[in-house]
Amino acid sequence: MIDFRYEYATARVVFRPGAVDAVGAEVAALGAQRVLLIATASAAAVAVRIVDQLGDRLAGVLDYVIQHVPEPLAAGARLRAIDLAADAVVSVGGGSATGLAKAVAVATAIPIVAVPTTYAGSEATPVYGITGTHKTTGRDRHARPRVIVYDPELTLGMPPRLTATSGLNAVAHAVQAPVGPSANPLSTMYGLEALRRLRDALPRAVRTGDDLDARAEALLGAHLAGTAFAGAGSGLHHKLCHVLGGDFGLPHAEVHAVLLPYVVAYQQSVAPETFAPAAAVLGERDAAVLGGRDAAAGLRALAEDLGAPTSLAEIGALADALPAAAERAAKDLADSAVQPLIDEARLRVLLDDAHTGRQPTS
Ligand code: NAD
Repeated sequence: MIDFRYEYATARVVFRPGAVDAVGAEVAALGAQRVLLIATASAAAVAVRIVDQLGDRLAGVLDYVIQHVPEPLAAGARLRAIDLAADAVVSVGGGSATGLAKAVAVATAIPIVAVPTTYAGSEATPVYGITGTHKTTGRDRHARPRVIVYDPELTLGMPPRLTATSGLNAVAHAVQAPVGPSANPLSTMYGLEALRRLRDALPRAVRTGDDLDARAEALLGAHLAGTAFAGAGSGLHHKLCHVLGGDFGLPHAEVHAVLLPYVVAYQQSVAPETFAPAAAVLGERDAAVLGGRDAAAGLRALAEDLGAPTSLAEIGALADALPAAAERAAKDLADSAVQPLIDEARLRVLLDDAHTGRQPTS
């Protein structure tokens, strides 16, 4: 019997090539007078365009962000916002810039206008993360940006490797939707539509970085995938990525890219029917991928096609760190009661396989 809860987002989405030129008007429509602008280094030129639009509404700029939002950085940003009496925060950049804006918004309750430049999808979620000794995540309505300005032109210069790994971060949001702790039919639907778009757009965007149509499709896919993640919540895959990324300092999108086929191989061994729709979507891309019946194999084939890293060793994970990572993840998972249950020994096997990069098996 159908039985679920779902919270509709109240975000405004502006999506078009050149949309970044609407940021000033969107800020004005919010009634904000004192804006804190958070801009990642790669978006310096875009930040200048936003500064011009904000004029007197600009109160201050933070141009330094770090992945996983270290607590001291978050604390500094919050103090800066309070000192400036900021009444809105505009973020431009990848998930790290959005993440710092979230740390400010959760503490101050001011609205975020997010201008994403990767496929991380954080702008579509109320999830925020802060990293002290360990990375912790939470949900807060203030962490969900009030306005999202999607401008595919800002992604034209994204290098192929970032396009591939960030795109696979979005694919992970999409594929994991049916097994999130609050999985529901709406999130699963968003996830499947995201997967269809990402499956087709990412190979084009990797091969021809300035293909605006491919960039727009990938960005829309990332939005849908982030929306799927927001509704379904963080399960085994995300919790494992947070341990490897936050606690062990590995790059977030690359960890997602490597781990996803291994986690899905385990998950579909427990619940094959749950991953059948994703396997079918991936199988449409390449009928040779086990006739569209194996989602893990389909994901691995997509990663290889995109030229993404396929082993933890390749992205700098030390084999010696894996036992501690498995122990930490097992503890986090036990605390969060994520299903299906997985014990530390099975996590070790999963991480060892992912470290070597051998083909994932169920
Ligand atoms: P990132 O924001 O750290 O960006 C990676 C690098 O790419 C940076 O050096 C950045 O300056 C550069 N960059 C960004 N956009 C670019 C572009 N268009 N062209 C060239 N370079 C560009 O990486 P990310 O993967 O986007 O975000 C990772 C962070 O986001 C992690 O901290 C992760 O936990 C968080 N995240 C949060 C959520 C959520 O729902 N809360 C979802 C996904 C990711």
